[in-house]
Amino acid sequence: MGIRQIREIGDDILTKTCKPVTQMTLRTKLLINDMLDTMYEANGVGLAAPQAGVLKRIVVIDVGEGPIIMLNPEIISAEGEQTGYEGCLSVPGKMGTVTRPNVVTVRFQDENMEWQEMTGTELLARAFCHEIDHLDGMLYVDKVEGELMESSYEDDEEDEEE
Ligand code: ZN
Repeated sequence: MGIRQIREIGDDILTKTCKPVTQMTLRTKLLINDMLDTMYEANGVGLAAPQAGVLKRIVVIDVGEGPIIMLNPEIISAEGEQTGYEGCLSVPGKMGTVTRPNVVTVRFQDENMEWQEMTGTELLARAFCHEIDHLDGMLYVDKVEGELMESSYEDDEEDEEE
């Protein structure tokens, strides 16, 4: 178990391009475990390695259907369009409207470095796009239509903290 400090907007690491993972090492396994712990602790649906301070092409996602671990993910097809609210653990307390494809297929390597493909729709498609953007130094705030808004979710969190 390891909770990593989540890097926040303004931190240079979030603007950098991540390096591919070339082999599964103990260090990378530990990082993945920490990323999952950190994502669940923060009630997020996804986390990319640079948010945990590491410039590697790794993302973890859980939209409520169990954890998905992706190494070196790339979008190989995207169809349709969805417009909806999006937030990011690196931009706490905010949300904004972003248009993304509605059906997204990703090619990636799993924890055994085997290539896999997975197709996601709606929230999962959005999560694929959002997290893969992180690996190329992009944040959703650059794609927001209109203004960033305060999320009421953060208010709930503050109430629980004391
Ligand atoms: Zn994010």
